[in-house]
Amino acid sequence: MTETDLLVIGAGPAGCSAAIYAVRAGVKTIIAGGAMPGGQLLQTNDLENYAGFVNPVGGFELMDNMHKQCKRLGVQITSDEIVKIEGEKPPFILTASSGEQYRAFAVIIAAGATARWLGVKGEEKLKGRGVSACATCDGFFFKGKEVIVVGGGNTAFEDALFLAQFCPKVTLVHRREGFRADAVTVEKAKNTPNISMLLNCVVEEVLGDESVKGALVRNVQTKDCVQVPCSGIFVAVGAVPQTAWLKDSPVNREPSGLIKVDARQSTNIEGIFAAGDCTEEQFRQAIVAAGTGARAGISAAAFVNLHR
Ligand code: NAP
Repeated sequence: MTETDLLVIGAGPAGCSAAIYAVRAGVKTIIAGGAMPGGQLLQTNDLENYAGFVNPVGGFELMDNMHKQCKRLGVQITSDEIVKIEGEKPPFILTASSGEQYRAFAVIIAAGATARWLGVKGEEKLKGRGVSACATCDGFFFKGKEVIVVGGGNTAFEDALFLAQFCPKVTLVHRREGFRADAVTVEKAKNTPNISMLLNCVVEEVLGDESVKGALVRNVQTKDCVQVPCSGIFVAVGAVPQTAWLKDSPVNREPSGLIKVDARQSTNIEGIFAAGDCTEEQFRQAIVAAGTGARAGISAAAFVNLHR
């Protein structure tokens, strides 16, 4: 069993920021970051809105820098994925999927969020065979092919712009006419000749047996259905908090899975804090995650230094 003052679950911007603040307050801090530490930013090409960078910074580069910064300050980052948390007061016992256990006086849950799927016919069967939730990871396999992107947020638009660099035709399918994506990004897509949009439309079915051959797209206003031929369907319809593993724990969550926190990022259990996308309904931005992570790090460090 590994002993620590603070265990941070998640090595995305929230977890790293929390760890940086805690370790600098003299608190022994370990991050359990899972097999792919870095979270959703690892799937982001360029960030243009993370303050402090004159030019766009790559998501991977930003996370790599945060991990190096954590390590330089003395934070240990492990590849453990925490699957269980026990205890209603400190110390808490945390168990990883490997069986490894930690005893921590305080915990920060910064487990992030993961892709939401459409839940339509054909989607599950063809995941990894043309259906993907990560254009950055899988886009390369669709070079020279026609693809569809589903969604109207920043992820969908950035995915469409990324894919348009090497796919001859990218069709963005969105269920209404308004977009959640930034105006600047929407404008870039509108000015990209090989991106077209099917608005007020939903994907009703993913077509194909062995691999994706197209999508059945229904116009929600006219109810008309068309078959759109394509080799890839990139689903970018938002994210769900990665908190299902907390179901048998006393940590309070919303029905959506979001962890409830107060202004100090404290959960209902004293000594357990949470930050980042697993607590955030509306502002799922890297910089917001880093900000709430900082708040959780400061709060957790104060808790450890006061009560331990
Ligand atoms: P999002 O902003 O929640 O957008 C999800 C989109 O999917 C919405 O347009 C939504 O439609 C649509 N949608 C949801 N469920 C659907 C369903 N079942 N069927 C069809 N469409 C569905 O998610 P996101 O684009 O992943 O972005 C998440 C957060 O990360 C946002 O805060 C975003 O700004 C941020 N982000 C930032 C950057 C950046 O700044 N570089 C890049 C990527 C993401 P409605 O609009 O009709 O609800």
